[in-house]
Amino acid sequence: MSKKTAKKTPKKVAKKTSKSKIQNTLPDIETNFGEWFNEILFQADIIDYRYNLKGCGVWKGYGFKIRRKYLEIMRDLLDNTPIPHEEMLFPLLIPEDQFMKEKETVKGFESEVYWVTHGGLTPLDVKLCLRPTSETAMYPMVAKWIRSHQDLPLKTYQIANMFRFEGKNTRPLIRVREITTFKEAHTYHESKEDCSEQIREAVEIYKDIFDSLGVPYLITQRPKWDTFPGADYTIAFDSILPHTNKALQNGTIHNLGQTFSKTFDIKFETADGNQDYVYQTCYGISERGIASIVAFHGDNFGLKLPPTVAPIEIVIVPILFKNKEDDVMKVCNDYYKKLKKEGFKVRLDTRKMSTGRKYFHWELRGVPIRVEIGPKDIEKNQIAVVRRDVKGKNFIPNDESIKYLSNLLEDIQQSLHKSAKKRHDELIFRTNDLEEAIDFVDKNKGIVEIPFCGEEECAESIEKRLDGLKFLGIPDRYLLVLNKRVKKEKDIFCSHCMKPVTQYWRIGKSY
Ligand SMILES: [Zn+2]
Repeated sequence: MSKKTAKKTPKKVAKKTSKSKIQNTLPDIETNFGEWFNEILFQADIIDYRYNLKGCGVWKGYGFKIRRKYLEIMRDLLDNTPIPHEEMLFPLLIPEDQFMKEKETVKGFESEVYWVTHGGLTPLDVKLCLRPTSETAMYPMVAKWIRSHQDLPLKTYQIANMFRFEGKNTRPLIRVREITTFKEAHTYHESKEDCSEQIREAVEIYKDIFDSLGVPYLITQRPKWDTFPGADYTIAFDSILPHTNKALQNGTIHNLGQTFSKTFDIKFETADGNQDYVYQTCYGISERGIASIVAFHGDNFGLKLPPTVAPIEIVIVPILFKNKEDDVMKVCNDYYKKLKKEGFKVRLDTRKMSTGRKYFHWELRGVPIRVEIGPKDIEKNQIAVVRRDVKGKNFIPNDESIKYLSNLLEDIQQSLHKSAKKRHDELIFRTNDLEEAIDFVDKNKGIVEIPFCGEEECAESIEKRLDGLKFLGIPDRYLLVLNKRVKKEKDIFCSHCMKPVTQYWRIGKSY
């Protein structure tokens, strides 16, 4: 930890006075993304991992506000589906016998579960696990709530923390032991078809969430061997992070069928008076969404926050000159109040430090727009506007400025999304030549689509060819299936066993 504190010593700050070089201690994003990522989370007051427990961090003020915006987007979408999702909150502790009931889940999580064995000094009769996911906490309760088909569909979600004992190296926001921000939705239906419909709704919700964040994604059906324990199938949202070009699983959607309802006895009376087990789906996303915002919209100067999640949309920096301080401050104050009244999330920076340092401070934190007001601007009845994502300064007449700023925020939102998407698209490559595919992945150029038979043994043989190579699954197939127009490819052969096949599969490196 001494390394980080060393950077903060006053001596170093005092040394660096030149405007362009003020305090910028971020590693180069292109050549050293991992370090850049850790540093920006720390320097921009997003999350501090110096807590004395591996894989656990502290959300700081600025990060907490970004997290809050992220959750607002999520809640708004889930609360407002035609049949709304009801937000609930279940206990963190799950009794061992209840957790062990669903064998597949146990198998999937046994190496990752934290156990509570004592209450004070007394050993517990039944050990308690800290939820690694909440199916086994929720379903016994839901079994008490659902009686008839009239209770269906039931759509619920919770946003809570989860604990997973990650053996691999932990990584801020991406691989942690306390997942602080896990949104898990659980839905209950009368039929298989209703479940499929729900999967479609979930996909649309996730698309809306990631689009709002300006985060590009691929939708992939996971291989059988990488499906959520107990689920019929799993659909994943993967984002290929820039600079490393590795896939980050950003969200998953599971069709659980009747596996869990049979285990936990979630039955209902059907319309014709019979008993049946409910059909279920569940879908989750975590703080990895915030990791993606940081990764996709950063540069060597810091963050570039999309306005949808920016705690501050506009910062006003007064340009002070001798004997004009009071005039400038008055105009800045009035303008601040005006913007606030118009509903902008605005901050007036009145701190006693150089303007250069102020610029640096807000650039690092990714504030989308900086407004500068100095004596000359007051004379000309204008403001100077600088956007974070594109270089340059514009002078805007005061009476046109509200509309201008409002349009500019919209423009920044779209242009951040567009440029992230353009870059993301370039990282996906399709080829029938396995050697070419492996070379592409080996050179960290992104994700490749190859013809493949779907057999696990074949996948293993291919994965062995390259360290870290992984089968992500089938591109977008679920949508085609749901729309009943599966497009069959012609004259393609599995990259390993050479059997004629109909589909391409995605392979690549992932987090
Ligand atoms: Zn094969």
